Amino acid sequence: MSTPSPANTAAVAPETVKTSNFLRQIIEHDLDKGTYAARRWAGTPGDAAHHAAGQPDPAKVRTRFPPEPNGYLHIGHAKSICINFGLARDYGGICHLRFDDTNPEKEDTEYVNSIIDAVKWLGFDWNGAPDAAPYQASDYFGFMYRAAEYLIESGHAYVDEQTTEQMRANRGDFTKPGVDSPFRTRTPEENLRIFREMRDGEHEDGSMVLRAKIDMASPNINMRDPAIYRIRRATHHHTGDTWCIYPMYTFAHPIEDALEQITHSLCTLEFEDQRPFYDWLLERLTEGGLLAGPAPRQYEFARLNLTYVITSKRKLAQLVYDHKVSGWDDPRMPTIVGLRRRGYTPAALQVFADRIGVTKSDSWIDYSTLEGCLREDLELKAHRGMAVLNPVKLVLTNWDDVMGAGHLEPCSLPALPHPPEGVESPVRHFTIGKAVWIEREDFEEVPPKGYKRLFPGNKVRLKGGYVIECTGCTKDAAGTITEVLATVVPDTKSGTPGADSVKVKAAITWVGVADGVNAEVRMYDRLFLDAHPDAGGKDFIESLNPNSLKVVTAIVEPSLANAAPDQKFQFERHGYFVADRVDHAAGKPVFNLAVGLKDSWGK
Ligand code: ATP
Ligand code: MG
Repeated sequence: MSTPSPANTAAVAPETVKTSNFLRQIIEHDLDKGTYAARRWAGTPGDAAHHAAGQPDPAKVRTRFPPEPNGYLHIGHAKSICINFGLARDYGGICHLRFDDTNPEKEDTEYVNSIIDAVKWLGFDWNGAPDAAPYQASDYFGFMYRAAEYLIESGHAYVDEQTTEQMRANRGDFTKPGVDSPFRTRTPEENLRIFREMRDGEHEDGSMVLRAKIDMASPNINMRDPAIYRIRRATHHHTGDTWCIYPMYTFAHPIEDALEQITHSLCTLEFEDQRPFYDWLLERLTEGGLLAGPAPRQYEFARLNLTYVITSKRKLAQLVYDHKVSGWDDPRMPTIVGLRRRGYTPAALQVFADRIGVTKSDSWIDYSTLEGCLREDLELKAHRGMAVLNPVKLVLTNWDDVMGAGHLEPCSLPALPHPPEGVESPVRHFTIGKAVWIEREDFEEVPPKGYKRLFPGNKVRLKGGYVIECTGCTKDAAGTITEVLATVVPDTKSGTPGADSVKVKAAITWVGVADGVNAEVRMYDRLFLDAHPDAGGKDFIESLNPNSLKVVTAIVEPSLANAAPDQKFQFERHGYFVADRVDHAAGKPVFNLAVGLKDSWGK
């Protein structure tokens, strides 16, 4: 992909939510025409004979999400999950979760489990039943081998012993047709014998491959006799050492779809050139009676590109292994586990997927679009609370005289300022006494023009508490302000009849010294400074933001200190925060900044 220009960075407008798209139109057309109405389904994946013995398929469409279990899923996968599972849900279908584990070297059960968790967390069930076992492509190795023998027997495949270099040279290029391999004219009997030797471990890794026999002059280079099986002595995490030959992805993938009776196989645009081979292969195997028709069809959509974000498992792995982040679930990571720990909700990610829509051309989505979706979701749901992130002590010098020495006055505010219809907001309780914490920036000895908060002679309200009048401050030898001084105006407590007796221009947030609790607050910023950190082959490590994490000790009101892990809040005026899923505990609160109150990205 070429380096993107700001012009094709799209901030997507809310009105595009849930509109139709070309995939919906294709599915609706197929449902109208009954393209897949005659399919049968035997309850499990299988070949033509297997499904012929089954029932008419209860699923109107079948889609699939086929991750390779070689890393943690990221926001791009979330888009694909929402598309595939969402379309199946909307059209009376079933979406399959299938591990594309045909590549023996890179896979790991840690990744398998994390993918299952991610799909579940996003709110989806797969394979037609809650908690069904996911399908795995390695279960189809036996059929794939049989399909390869069939292609050999029907004259559609041959064993090629050219070296990798010879094969590359003879493939030609966009301007030059390929050259037939000298092994291309072997008889089916000879090919079958050698292919079985390959399977039986009689040949070295890399010494020969099985190739489909199509057309070395095809304008589509993918049709110039693509390799479909290779020799690779590697222990597979499911099949162990059963096989020393493994199918190539381009051969395996269409077969996986067909065995599972997938109707619409949705993938990203880079697979467009593979579609002719996908169709060619399934035609051969269907006409040979191995696979039940009608064959699945492949459709391509644009992958998600998000500004300031990398969506490549390999590059994300590099950040983890080079300790640029604390792990796959570091809240700065665009992985699903990272987003979850950051405070993202499944609802926010689903709205995001709907809002960005499905298109046939690549573009960049502005990061603020993702943040906007989270803000919208949390706006109505997150409990409010007060936290002071940069505290200075405020002393109410007349408190003991007017309120009584040591007196603590109970205060309360609703946790939800706009509760949904018919729901009563929970109430937060806290106390005010002689000393409270306020934000350092809420006091100015000499106020700048238009400043409405604390300065000598000015009155403000302590939100949910009393009106106070500032009288000055104390400083240490270095001139740093150590305490802000004020007097409390009695009978002005919020919610009492006297609350409106004194008019003020500002209400400031605060936390009582008596009941405030220290909390670790992790202030996250974008991980990269460059909007397109890896575009055009750039080294993304160079644009890492050195200030992407700042840890502060804040003081929070009691209701926040008692948060459950993963609970989300709006810290009034500061933004949305989540109690860290991993480190937050009773008596040791830890919060992550999820998203600010306003879009600060474009500015
Ligand atoms: P990566 O390059 O990060 O390893 P991948 O495409 O190799 O990603 P797979 O596990 O093969 O990862 O992907 C599973 C599915 O998710 C595929 O159908 C793939 O097209 C889709 N997918 C991956 N990345 C994106 C993305 N950025 N936007 C939309 N879909 C994506
Ligand atoms: Mg892949």
